[in-house]
Amino acid sequence: MAIEFPQLPFPIDSLEPSISKRTLEFHHGKHHKNYVTKLNELIANTPLDSKDLVSIILESEKTLQNVFNNAAQAWNHDFYWHCLTPGGKETMSEEFSIKINQSFGSLEELKNQFNESAKKLFGSGWTWLVCNEEGKLSIMNTKDADNPIPHGLTPLLTCDVWEHAYYLDYQNERPGYLKNYWNIVDWTFAEKNWQQFKTDNDFEEESVTGSSGGAASLQSKETDENSERQLH
Ligand code: FE
Repeated sequence: MAIEFPQLPFPIDSLEPSISKRTLEFHHGKHHKNYVTKLNELIANTPLDSKDLVSIILESEKTLQNVFNNAAQAWNHDFYWHCLTPGGKETMSEEFSIKINQSFGSLEELKNQFNESAKKLFGSGWTWLVCNEEGKLSIMNTKDADNPIPHGLTPLLTCDVWEHAYYLDYQNERPGYLKNYWNIVDWTFAEKNWQQFKTDNDFEEESVTGSSGGAASLQSKETDENSERQLH
């Protein structure tokens, strides 16, 4: 059972001007497709052939670097496309909005910290908004194909920081790409991932309305300290 190459969840020219049709023709039509094609070649006639993408990622992580790289990149790109929507969507529930404010101070501060983290990522990789098993939100970078799943973290949102994601539109100006990224982010997708985490883990907030200045400050400090962490 081969892994399918998924279509974009939006028309290919609909993210302009943040991301051009030409970038997506290469990024989705060549890079993403290539990861899926290579993965299917690598797992053909092996026990991984019948597994889903997340299982392949978890089973190849420690021992099959080439399989892991292509499987993780296939998953990361599909997840990234779903983080994007024409014109962006910033609507979210009050509960999720409070969670963000408790974790980062505000949505704007989350974006600032995310961008700072992405700017500091040396070479190729991904910047993520993740949730740990205790339900805490934080921002992290991963190097190359790596993603939060093997680290026991739940991805809520990501930005592809490989040069192939922005070079045709922005050349080497990663900050310009990051600035315009927020114009096309689908927060309803990030919240859906958060709600799914809660359902899967039977998770309930201790308090979403109480004072949380201390917790928010602590989280911000942790995020700063981890901003250069690049798990691999
Ligand atoms: Fe990419």
